[in-house]
Amino acid sequence: MVDVAPLNRNAKKTITRVVIRDITTEHLVEQVRKDFVANASHELRTPLSIINGYLENLVEGDIDNQAMLKRALTVMQKHGERIARIVEDMLVISRLESGEAAALNVSPFLFTECVEEVLDRLEPLIQQQKTKIRFKIEDESLALIGDRFYWTQVFFNLVENALKQNPRRPLTLEIGARFNGEDEVTLWVADNGVGIPGVDLPFIFRRFYRVEKHHSQDSIKGTGLGLSIVKRAVEAHGGTIDVTSVPGQRTAFSIHLPKEALATEEQLLLAAAGDGDGQALVADRENEEGEHA
Ligand code: ADP
Repeated sequence: MVDVAPLNRNAKKTITRVVIRDITTEHLVEQVRKDFVANASHELRTPLSIINGYLENLVEGDIDNQAMLKRALTVMQKHGERIARIVEDMLVISRLESGEAAALNVSPFLFTECVEEVLDRLEPLIQQQKTKIRFKIEDESLALIGDRFYWTQVFFNLVENALKQNPRRPLTLEIGARFNGEDEVTLWVADNGVGIPGVDLPFIFRRFYRVEKHHSQDSIKGTGLGLSIVKRAVEAHGGTIDVTSVPGQRTAFSIHLPKEALATEEQLLLAAAGDGDGQALVADRENEEGEHA
């Protein structure tokens, strides 16, 4: 942005002030904001117009027809739930993007417990699709220190994605954890399903980005926000995430965490004893290292 202004209009010799500012970052941020608003409106418009269409029919039509009424209400309910899910996902993203450390409710917990919780919640789908689950967890006592709510969302989204992208395939899901040297851990969720084409891989973590809609089940069609949430939640805990995919063979989402995201045995014990000192220890460590766990 170039700003030019004369400083001494009346004098014989004009002095001009020229200010040149690099506003690339502001411009990009504004672009991202505009895209987000446009995408969000587009995603919300479809279910809303379906609901409005049915309402219009009901207002003008025959509401004594019980069968039709039931059908209309069922469709409206489904689309109402979809709107609620999109709004909920957008709020989670916005909380994570606010960058407030306070947004994280940090406590120590076992990685395997978090995974079990996710698998329990998805049990009906796992049963229905006869999915095989394989664990490759190097150390069962691996404990994380972070916001369990977000970590559950991370693994829920990754496991649910693998399941819902492969409704009619015999699927094997792998959940793993391994230490790389002393201080870094890699957690992963992998499957041998349809996978993600190479051209889509660079965009997969973008908001509202979806690969072909055809192989996903209509009833639980996603919002396209799941992986955005996963990425932001991992980053809020100081980690990174990447994905590799060979369609039909192996699609793997790998999360790399620094040692600050891992809990010690002592923290875990204190938290289990429920005396709240787990939190105090976290605060101590943050102070010592000047970083957020
Ligand atoms: P959605 O709500 O559509 O699941 P996500 O952000 O979670 O949105 O995922 C974006 C897209 O990435 C999905 O629509 C799907 O096409 C693709 N995807 C994610 N995980 C997998 C997987 N394990 N196998 C195949 N495709 C996947």
